[in-house]
Amino acid sequence: MPQHAPTPRVCRDCDGHASAMVTTGARTLDGSRVLVRVDCPACQGTGHHAPAAGLVRAGR
Ligand SMILES: [Zn+2]
Repeated sequence: MPQHAPTPRVCRDCDGHASAMVTTGARTLDGSRVLVRVDCPACQGTGHHAPAAGLVRAGR
């Protein structure tokens, strides 16, 4: 069991599911539901963690 696998750069807030389709409860004229796409605010809908510049080098 590889315990030292590289950390996946997946956003912790949304676990990679950066965009969620939320139904508003309203219906369009043709009867389909109105969906609003909501992007994760932490990663702006990318699903990935943007590597913080400088943080990696700050060794202890
Ligand atoms: Zn996210």
